[in-house]
Amino acid sequence: MNDRADGIILKEMDYREHDVMITVLSEQYGKIAFTVSGARKMSSRNKGSVLPYTKAEFEFDYKPHRTLFHLKRARTLKLYRPLHEDLTLSSAAAVLIGTADALTLSGEEDDDPKAKLQLLEQALDLLAEKEPCDLVIACYLSEMMQLFGVGAEVDACVHCGKPEAVVFSSDEGGFLCHECAGSQEPMTKEELMRMRRIVRGGITHYSQVRQLVTPSPQDAFLLHEMLVRHAGIRIGAYQLYRKLNRYA
Ligand SMILES: [Zn+2]
Repeated sequence: MNDRADGIILKEMDYREHDVMITVLSEQYGKIAFTVSGARKMSSRNKGSVLPYTKAEFEFDYKPHRTLFHLKRARTLKLYRPLHEDLTLSSAAAVLIGTADALTLSGEEDDDPKAKLQLLEQALDLLAEKEPCDLVIACYLSEMMQLFGVGAEVDACVHCGKPEAVVFSSDEGGFLCHECAGSQEPMTKEELMRMRRIVRGGITHYSQVRQLVTPSPQDAFLLHEMLVRHAGIRIGAYQLYRKLNRYA
C-alpha cells in the first residue's frame, strides 16, 4: 500500500472526461502508466505534476504484473522549465523522450529501468543547461541504442573487422573499411572521429565528448537512420526537430 516511484513523464493523454493517463519511466518499476483523476480540471492538485518532461515522485498501490495504476498523489521533483519555454529545446526534449519511450519495455520486462532513467535525466539536464541539442541527441541516441542491443560498431569495419574506417554506414550499422565501402563516398577524418567519440562516450561521458567534438546535425541523423534500418523504429519527434532547425 502507498508505494512510491520516482520517474519522468514520457506522455500524457486524455482519458475519459476529466482524467488523463500518463506514461512514466520509473526507476523502481520500469515503464508504467497512471490514470490521474480530474487532472484536466484547473483545480486539481495533481495538475502541475502530470506534465511531460517532468520528474516527479508518484504515490500509488503497486500490484505485480500490472502496468496501469491509479495515481494517488504526485510531487514534482524537477520541472525542466527551460524545456517548456523554448520551442527548439522543447522539440529536442521530445526527441529524447520519444527515444526513451521507444527503446524501453513495459513494466518488469525491462531489465534495467534505473540506468535508462538516469540516462534520460542526464540528457534532459544537459538540454536545460543549454548544451548543443545536436550533440546531446546524438550521444543519447547512441547510448540508448547500445542498451537496446543495436549499438553502432565504431572500433573496426563492421563487415570484415579490419581496424580501418572510411565511412559510417547506417545500413550496415557502423564503420566500413575502404574495401567494404565500395563506391560509397568516404567521410572526412573529422566526421569519422566525431562519430567514434560520440558512440564510445555517449551521454555517460558527455563532458569528455563535448571537449573534443564540434557538434553537427549529421551524427544524430546517421544514428537515427541506423535505428530505422536495424530496429524498425522511427522517432516521430525527430522529424519535427529537423524541420524546426531547417535541417530537412
Ligand atoms: Zn571491411
